[in-house]
Amino acid sequence: MMQIPFGNLSHQYLAIKEEIDAAISRVLKSGWFVLGDEVLAFENEFATYCSTTYGIGVGSGTEALHLSLLACDIQTGDEVITVPNTAVPTVSAISFAGAMPVFVDIDPATYTIDVSKIESAITKKTRAIIPVHLYGQCADMDHILAIAEHYKIAVIEDACQAHGALYKGRKAGSMGDAGCFSFYPSKNLGAFGDAGMVVTNNEKIAERVRLLRNYGQEHRYVNVIKGFNSRLDEIQAAILRVKLSRLDVWNEIRREKAEKYKTLLKGINSFVMPEEASYARHVYHLFVVRNERRDALLDFLNKRGIGTFIHYPIPIHLQKSYRDLGYNEGDFPVTETYAKHILSLPLYPEMDDDCLQEITVALRNY
Ligand SMILES: *Cc1c(COP(=O)(O)O)cnc(C)c1O
Repeated sequence: MMQIPFGNLSHQYLAIKEEIDAAISRVLKSGWFVLGDEVLAFENEFATYCSTTYGIGVGSGTEALHLSLLACDIQTGDEVITVPNTAVPTVSAISFAGAMPVFVDIDPATYTIDVSKIESAITKKTRAIIPVHLYGQCADMDHILAIAEHYKIAVIEDACQAHGALYKGRKAGSMGDAGCFSFYPSKNLGAFGDAGMVVTNNEKIAERVRLLRNYGQEHRYVNVIKGFNSRLDEIQAAILRVKLSRLDVWNEIRREKAEKYKTLLKGINSFVMPEEASYARHVYHLFVVRNERRDALLDFLNKRGIGTFIHYPIPIHLQKSYRDLGYNEGDFPVTETYAKHILSLPLYPEMDDDCLQEITVALRNY
């Protein structure tokens, strides 16, 4: 039986081994390991890639969100709007900034925030919206930005799954007050450990994130605000610089493979394929299909050696850790229904087409 894992990160390393090894070795020989020349260079290169003025390397995507909220002056008692269909860290960042997460259901076609439902969630306490560019596709930013401008609230993009994704030609992460990226190993641009970045055109936000990530210190041992330790290290930055030069090619291959899936599964109506919104360039961080008998499908595929995941099986408002927010089952019907029907299929740039073919044969048999 053919084993098809959900992902395989060693393929990618082996394909660019020489460059990666050279980059790591350069850092080891330099004797400088945290916040140095590699980080500075990567911050500039990634900010340029995102068409933003500033990039500030941090410890993770979660911390990019957390520090961005603090830099936007979000405080205890403030409300921050986001979706219940996201990775838990989107919401933990809000909680650890002291704010109250307020959920809005997702749009049935794009899996991102339903812009028609945002205004009814806004109160006098609302201070920010975090749209999540889920699975590699941007939320409908024009509407979100217009609402935010009208109510004078910040927009912090969770672009942790959307490196290089476009909204009407604009880069994910460049449209709000701040854009937050994760370089967790499995993301479209992944480090060999944890790493993250905040990108922004706002000098004040950039300066505050820069202070917050490094103890609040302006110069060595001179501290101007209370801060954290959330720094990007030189080895990760050097690795990410090598990989950034491949990102567009890798994203293009993801798009081709997504099209191949769609072509090979055409006409099977029990599977709902991901759609690219007319405004979007999707980068398929995940290839998520829907099927009404998802759990049986998952078993069927696993028995045939095909690795799958569910992103995400439990909506955040139904997680034990967020029960204190007071939401109930039934509050977000699209998210809740989809949580029972979604399944992420293997899709990564190095996956060969035989695997993809094999998966679609299994799906047809199902
Ligand atoms: C990965 C991810 C995060 C968190 O990033 P970490 O680097 O793991 O902290 C946040 N939001 C979304 C949507 C993600 O996919």
